[in-house]
Amino acid sequence: MNQQSLVVLGATGSIGLSTLDVVSRNAHQYRVFALVAGQNVEKMTELCLAYQPRYAVMNSELAAQQLAQHLAHTATKVLSGVSAMADMARHDDVDIVMSAIVGAAGLLPTLAAVEAGKKVLLANKESLVMSGQLFMDKVKAHGATLLPIDSEHNAIYQCLPNSIQTGQSNTLCESGVSKILLTGSGGPFLQRPLETLPNVTVEEAVAHPNWSMGRKISVDSATMMNKGLEFIEAKWLFNCSADDIDVVIHPQSMIHSMVQYRDGSVIAQMGQPDMRTPIAYGLAYPERIDAGVEPLDFSQIVDFTFTKPDFERYPNLRLAIDACRSGQAATTTVNAANEVAVAAFLDKQIGFCDIYRVNALTLEQTTLGVLESVESIMEADQAARYRAKQIITTLR
Ligand code: NAD
Ligand code: MG
Repeated sequence: MNQQSLVVLGATGSIGLSTLDVVSRNAHQYRVFALVAGQNVEKMTELCLAYQPRYAVMNSELAAQQLAQHLAHTATKVLSGVSAMADMARHDDVDIVMSAIVGAAGLLPTLAAVEAGKKVLLANKESLVMSGQLFMDKVKAHGATLLPIDSEHNAIYQCLPNSIQTGQSNTLCESGVSKILLTGSGGPFLQRPLETLPNVTVEEAVAHPNWSMGRKISVDSATMMNKGLEFIEAKWLFNCSADDIDVVIHPQSMIHSMVQYRDGSVIAQMGQPDMRTPIAYGLAYPERIDAGVEPLDFSQIVDFTFTKPDFERYPNLRLAIDACRSGQAATTTVNAANEVAVAAFLDKQIGFCDIYRVNALTLEQTTLGVLESVESIMEADQAARYRAKQIITTLR
């Protein structure tokens, strides 16, 4: 088999590092063409020395200059900025693009990969939340292969019939699917007394009981905005409506999601809470490769429980589901507001429960238009960020 050439967008992050770990275990099959990251020059230097990519791209000019100094004696060419990231993603010599930048910053490079018809491994859920219809239309128009890496969506994908995976049948209903059951652990505050939620600290919020992840998605898991974003992500990936998706709380995170069929069958995908499994699935699809993940040991599993989500505890989840029903402008707005609110929480400017206030108020104060172009999506994103920042100044 020919070696496949890979770009990792968000290489220094949690998903980026897990991707490179899987690549190392299967080095005969994959080679790294380019690594892309935000600011972390130290980690990027280390990765470039280990993987010797043809290109390395940093978000800022300054970070790129520093990286270039560290790599002066190597063959890696250092670039900066979002258009260089997009150039990597669409490069003729590239087969696979891992989209693992966090937040809206991932949108343009990911769309570049889609427009070039690449095999796109999508971890950056925010890009689909922002641009759903446009994104999926481009996947079709340019013949890109889109494989979900978010563990839930990867699980659902694995549980769907081949006719859906290969695009032969269009709707879940045609394939006999009656429900998508999107599971979530409930995060670190599933049992915490409601009246103490305003006192949640940053350290408590980023300590997820089952998964080790970046800081933004860890906070999103604690508020369950993550499940809300995933709800929207599922709607677009699987071409279904909000009524086709149910959220199920499963605190052990061993079932990663399920698909229920018309005949009563429920198919679940299970495994350790380790992102290397979906990453390996995406890299090798439709083959299977070693991910370095231990199998589940059923002799050790004592509890296996399921409950319904409590919207009083997780108001952000309801907000995102309502936005999903409302449409693209609402999902782009809530996504942007949430990024700003989570950053402000991590920066200790606002409290944990203020994240919801910022998101809800931003939505309330936005006149929702119709977003049909990338430009209009980016404008709505910027407007929501501006509004959310203003709301934060009134809360501080
Ligand atoms: P992280 O914070 O650990 O890493 C983020 C990466 O993005 C870093 O490499 C950072 O340098 C890069 N980055 C940030 N801003 C950038 C910019 N402007 N330009 C270029 N690069 C930039 O985050 P993560 O946990 O790896 O998550 C990445 C994405 O994957 C998110 O969208 C998240 O929702 C999704 N995801 C993560 C997990 C997980 O287990 N970590 C699971 C499912 C989905
Ligand atoms: Mg997930």
